[in-house]
Amino acid sequence: MSRIAIVGGGIAGVSTALRLGSLGLEVTLIEQEATLISGPPFCHLHAGGNLYREIDDAQCRTLLRQSIDFARLYPFGVDRRPTVIAVPTEDPGDPADLLPRLEMLRREYRTLVAEDPGRKVLGEPEEYFRLFGREAMERLRRLEPAERPGSAEEWMIPVARHLDFDRVRWPLILVREYGLNLFRIAAGAGMVLERMEKVTLHRGTTVRGIEREGAGFRLRCAGSFRGEIRADYLVNAAGFRTGEIDDMLGIAAERMVEFKAAYTSHWKERESLWPELIVHGERGTPRGMGQFTPYPAGYVQLHGMTERITLYPDGLVASGAQSSQPELPAHFLEKIAQGWREEERSERTRRAIGHLARYLPDFSAAEVGGPPLFGAQQIPGSDPTLRVAEVAFPLPRVARCEIVKVSSVTDMSRAIAADLERQGLLPERQEKDREIPEFEAVGESALADRARRIASGRGFPAAMGDRCVG
Ligand SMILES: Cc1cc2nc3c(=O)[nH]c(=O)nc-3n(C[C@H](O)[C@H](O)[C@H](O)COP(=O)(O)OP(=O)(O)OC[C@H]3O[C@@H](n4cnc5c(N)ncnc54)[C@H](O)[C@@H]3O)c2cc1C
Repeated sequence: MSRIAIVGGGIAGVSTALRLGSLGLEVTLIEQEATLISGPPFCHLHAGGNLYREIDDAQCRTLLRQSIDFARLYPFGVDRRPTVIAVPTEDPGDPADLLPRLEMLRREYRTLVAEDPGRKVLGEPEEYFRLFGREAMERLRRLEPAERPGSAEEWMIPVARHLDFDRVRWPLILVREYGLNLFRIAAGAGMVLERMEKVTLHRGTTVRGIEREGAGFRLRCAGSFRGEIRADYLVNAAGFRTGEIDDMLGIAAERMVEFKAAYTSHWKERESLWPELIVHGERGTPRGMGQFTPYPAGYVQLHGMTERITLYPDGLVASGAQSSQPELPAHFLEKIAQGWREEERSERTRRAIGHLARYLPDFSAAEVGGPPLFGAQQIPGSDPTLRVAEVAFPLPRVARCEIVKVSSVTDMSRAIAADLERQGLLPERQEKDREIPEFEAVGESALADRARRIASGRGFPAAMGDRCVG
């Protein structure tokens, strides 16, 4: 039986362990933190890449297909609420510029569903996006919000009641890009991995060194598990520390690392379920994109793509000739290791509230609701706008995960399984078909309970572990 060692228990390592564990392989997952999926956050399923005006159509199509796969892999982690996109008056863009791409994505979704009806996870293809003009919104503004919004109109009511209509260009766009709840995904994935007989989890364990041993590897570990792990195949899923593992293996690679943060606010007066709201803007300028991501119980995660909110002037670094690991300034590593100073956390959260309150004036009443959701992520190569990447195989029997968006994990783990097959390390045929792990066995109430505990264990309100809309 082939032994697989996976370094890193973020969404990349966990998804790989789930697939390879389902294929009956002997998998050891090594994660230096105490819990799985505790690195950079994710809240948005980029089912079409409509948050990124700068990327090409090919990346958008891949994001759509991969997001559908992701929603099928982790259905319990998807919040089925749409996203509303607004172009503000101060932005040089026009909503009409976005339409050709949306139409292309609607055609693409229709084709994907025609090929496999199981892919219809974003609603009816004809409803992939809808436009709302000012008149329609004036009418919706007078309606009471629905307790459980169903139709596109019902989802638009809260936006209609709170958006400053004079600050946006028309029409608004509602698109079926859904939300993700990372606490629920961490809970469900962790519970399934714990049930897999041939999967061993070493949490609180750091890989400190790797030596070659014959065709395989010997990993030196420290922490909860102290000792050596032998493996026939190695998966480097170390996130923004991927370059450190490359260095251990003597692999030269070019990559960037970016530190970013989102903020947790609480809007007591928020009376209903909301869609996500995106206010477009030019990244890195004071008018950078604003992202309002609703969680239950009035909590809202916020991004503002300016250097005073989500981005940092020194937050993007690249690898050099000496090492494949880009060097982040020390203050970011301190945040990752020890958390934030109270002053900076509340200052940036308040700025984020102000950024969104320019368009939602009532939202200025929101308060700091919890710690930031933050972290560093890798971007392979040298193009910081890259949004789709999966995996590379820099040496025989070594896979290096390189995802930029979480939706890439299904293509990534499928490619790793294919590489194992090429190397003759996969067991018999009938087992290869079992690609999707058995999440049903876990049960909703145990999963919901674990998700709440993960959220509160990390200092967030327990309600952020709840689903908005199933
Ligand atoms: C603010 C922010 C918002 C984001 N929002 C979204 C979003 O809405 N949607 C989306 O799709 N993506 C989003 N992303 C990107 C997404 O978070 C990342 O693409 C994804 O989490 C990367 O997962 P990963 O498993 O590759 O890395 P990680 O989650 O970083 O996992 C790597 C793991 O490896 C462990 N590790 C490292 N070195 C070692 C070692 N030597 N020994 C043992 N363990 C080790 C680390 O502790 C870590 O847990 C966002 C990123 C940020 C920063």
